[in-house]
Amino acid sequence: MVLKDKKVAIVGGGPGGLTLARLLQLKGVDVKVYERDVHAEIRHQGSTLDLHEESGLEALRRANLMTQFKTNHRPNAGRFVILDKNGNILLDEHALGDDYEETRPEIDRQALRTILLQSLNPDTIVWDSHFVAMEPKGEGWLLHFKNQTAYADFVVAADGANSKIRPYITAIKPIYSDITIIEGNVYNAAKNAPKMWELTNNGAGSVMILGDNQSLSMNTKADGTLSFYSGNKFPENWVAESGIDFKDKKAVEVWFKEQFGSWHPMYQELLASDEVSIVPRPMYHFPFDQTWETLPNLTMLGDAAHRMPPYAGEGVNMAMQDAFELAECLTSSEFDDITDAVSKYELNMQKRASEVTQDTLQNTQIIHSDDAIEKMLAMLSGE
Ligand SMILES: Cc1cc2nc3c(=O)[nH]c(=O)nc-3n(C[C@H](O)[C@H](O)[C@H](O)COP(=O)(O)OP(=O)(O)OC[C@H]3O[C@@H](n4cnc5c(N)ncnc54)[C@H](O)[C@@H]3O)c2cc1C
Repeated sequence: MVLKDKKVAIVGGGPGGLTLARLLQLKGVDVKVYERDVHAEIRHQGSTLDLHEESGLEALRRANLMTQFKTNHRPNAGRFVILDKNGNILLDEHALGDDYEETRPEIDRQALRTILLQSLNPDTIVWDSHFVAMEPKGEGWLLHFKNQTAYADFVVAADGANSKIRPYITAIKPIYSDITIIEGNVYNAAKNAPKMWELTNNGAGSVMILGDNQSLSMNTKADGTLSFYSGNKFPENWVAESGIDFKDKKAVEVWFKEQFGSWHPMYQELLASDEVSIVPRPMYHFPFDQTWETLPNLTMLGDAAHRMPPYAGEGVNMAMQDAFELAECLTSSEFDDITDAVSKYELNMQKRASEVTQDTLQNTQIIHSDDAIEKMLAMLSGE
């Protein structure tokens, strides 16, 4: 194994980084995860994630964590309701009863993180480690965090969409995907957004509302939070140029009324209470043909390597597939040196991510097109 006697540093304890840590530890690799969160219990944005058979679920299978997944997964959370802007229900998978086939089981982001964290050896995670820079040292890297330094022979960037490590690998920049998302969480949604909560089948389903070349997507967390995100075709710098203070819920509410005010009144519940948090996110992707020269002591996975809008539910699945493919290359006896092992991983990952990014952008385009409803209904019915 090319990592024999090597110290591995994974920067970022999201689903990609933690899956990789678990898989490397199962093979006896000396691995640390450096995570900027100060502790595990920090409240996270984001809602349920559907895991796909060949990627997210396959990663958990290889990590021997399927029992924990089955205990924590959220049956039926993937059942879809599609509505138009006037509040008409056009598709309701809850009505399918026992005929509904759950092919992509859902789990809360936080529950997935807990399962992965609990699977690691004690002291694997170094919390409160905010990466700022690194420099070559010997055959590896000296990593600088805000409050400490650490040496590693091999570094994996798993630090997400705005990766600080990616520029040490490539100068390729992301491309704006023409869509900006405003992500929100309504806490205690049964009280604060009762009609919308009901649409999610009282916390057990996903909802998409389409019209006017814009979208509202919603799903729920087991703790009673309703997560939603609007999708709009805005210019790249709209967040800064709009003049909206996204920390001021009232200012966002005014914008929401301008943008979605002609839609059914029940949708206005999303911004109506004071128990709402908001984050604006312009959506980016990387060029389909991105490649870089493989390095002997550094690689990347997940959103650091390939960003995309969330309209195909692929981001976490891709990150977890990266993790198991990288772990397989790094722990196989097939390769003579690290560069060969990493090169095999990177070539496969770049090709797979390119295909998935193209599919995702196609979905994104459909969802925000003039005939979004017809096309989505056709897609979901397998036409
Ligand atoms: C609104 C929205 C909805 C989404 N819905 C879905 C969905 O339904 N299904 C799906 O599959 N994907 C979805 N995604 C995408 C998904 O969240 C990402 O693709 C996925 O989380 C990527 O995993 P990752 O491990 O690469 O990075 P992340 O999950 O971003 O994890 C990165 C980790 O690195 C840490 N970190 C960052 N910077 C530093 C630093 N400088 N130093 C140390 N640590 C650092 C972060 O704290 C974090 O823990 C969605 C994304 C958005 C924005």
